[in-house]
Amino acid sequence: MTSLRGDERTEFPQSVRKAAFRRCCLGCRVKGVENIPGVPQCEGCGTELRPGNIFYEHMDPDGLGGDPTAENCQVRCRNCKKTKDKVDNAIMTKADNVLKASYGLKRKTKKIQSKGFEKAPGQRRASTPVEKWKGF
Ligand SMILES: [Zn+2]
Repeated sequence: MTSLRGDERTEFPQSVRKAAFRRCCLGCRVKGVENIPGVPQCEGCGTELRPGNIFYEHMDPDGLGGDPTAENCQVRCRNCKKTKDKVDNAIMTKADNVLKASYGLKRKTKKIQSKGFEKAPGQRRASTPVEKWKGF
């Protein structure tokens, strides 16, 4: 899908990834998580990062003009990446919609008319006596 924001993606250069990785090995800054010196820890949740579970994430999304710099790069685990991707995608979809609307490119949608619901018959309340017990 093409976006009005542009489709070019700038990945982090190796030097930036190296700097970010070094930073996440130096000390965990996640609140409430014990810092294990020399061990890479996720900058989102503090879990120990193992090969195959290391992702370099843009803090300011690339699609919204975030720079590929070490300051804008966070080393994260798969779970934190997933969570952030969800948030970022929602923000970028919104940005796309705002752009589309301001360029007059938004598709006109017609609201589906529903028939509505029939009015439910009145219900007997628990306090109303049951008809068949009235004789007793
Ligand atoms: Zn994490």
